[in-house]
Amino acid sequence: MEITANNPKRKSWLKVEETSDFPIQNIPFGVFLTRDDIITIGTRIGDYAIDLGALHQLGYFEGIPLTDDIFLQDTLNDFIADGRKTWRLVRNRIADIFDVTNSKLRDNVEHKDSVIFRIDEIEMLLPISVGDYTDFYSSKEHAKNLVGLFKDYENDLLPNWLHFPVGYHGRSSSIIPSGVPIHRPVGQQQPNNGETMPNFGATKSLDFELEMAFITTACNDLGHRISIEEAEESIFGMVLFNDWSARDIQAWEQVPLGPFLGKNFASTISPWIVTLDALKPFRVESPKHDHEPLPYLQQDGKHSYDINLEMAIKPEGEKETVVCNSNFKYMYWTMAQQLAHHTINGCPVNSGDMFGSGTISGPTKDSFGSMLELTWNGQNPIKMSDGTERKFINDNDTVIMRGYCKNGNIRIGFGECVGKILPAVEFKK
Ligand code: MN
Repeated sequence: MEITANNPKRKSWLKVEETSDFPIQNIPFGVFLTRDDIITIGTRIGDYAIDLGALHQLGYFEGIPLTDDIFLQDTLNDFIADGRKTWRLVRNRIADIFDVTNSKLRDNVEHKDSVIFRIDEIEMLLPISVGDYTDFYSSKEHAKNLVGLFKDYENDLLPNWLHFPVGYHGRSSSIIPSGVPIHRPVGQQQPNNGETMPNFGATKSLDFELEMAFITTACNDLGHRISIEEAEESIFGMVLFNDWSARDIQAWEQVPLGPFLGKNFASTISPWIVTLDALKPFRVESPKHDHEPLPYLQQDGKHSYDINLEMAIKPEGEKETVVCNSNFKYMYWTMAQQLAHHTINGCPVNSGDMFGSGTISGPTKDSFGSMLELTWNGQNPIKMSDGTERKFINDNDTVIMRGYCKNGNIRIGFGECVGKILPAVEFKK
């Protein structure tokens, strides 16, 4: 089926600024609270949020096989479970409804009133109920940097790293939408030199991880696998993903992955899921592999995406400083390889599951995707525009992640993924 929604010549009758992440070619999906306190599934064009539940009730999706309540839900899981054909039909129809040449909704004031909201009138919510969350470790530059930082432990990448996308299972309970503040986590840290009892208290090395995540539909039954050729068909879309980390808690737990309390207190996502269909014009080849992988992980052609990513830190009451510029295309393992590997043992993947890329670091020092790497574990603090320095994230700092693709005149973006760090919650032993 043709993706007519991607037509670069199309214009909308809704106003879209040139620098907007959300032209009519994007049509992402999200969940929001309307000004009337109703939760609905919606999309966004420019600075307008569009209530898909209301549009459906008014008959604008006639001819597409959808249940009556598919958009009147507080998560996208059921819509995602409907599969790629339905996602395409709906995106194409939305593009058609808001096309500058289509007068049906444009000239119906009453309908427009119940369907269109200004973006500052609504509140974005978590778009899916995340069943399972897996975090990969798929940027070679990042993995190499960690080897360099912890060279007491390993001299090079572990021998498995170049043969499959390494990952671990995370917690879905702490995945939160952009804007939700995070309390500095508390936990055990390494003992001081010569002591045996660990330190305990608020983390002194709170970090971000610049990642992206993809969201799947149901892929496979228990005991079955999906092939690398089928894998992309199962991916609904992507979000920005800040996988907050407490490096001192993590280092005491396990080096370098530490997949427990140093990692699972919060992960912030951007609230609009940009579909893989919308990202199609930005496909690029992934980096050449050092070794040919086993046949179930082999693929040719363009299976990565050219997505510019940045991370900024904004101290309270001050201007932000961009501390990192990276790109999704640096990922050594593709999403299809990750999914084919994840299911090779028969582990089922469900609608609404989420998969983090792992920290995405590039080849240059300003493209490293964490403060751990940017400051080399605090040895080279970053100068902020207000004159202060950062080794890691301070209390009351706001961390802002942004991402977009650009191709000629078309810009498809993800908006912002924002989290503010609050002081640790007081506790009694
Ligand atoms: Mn991570």
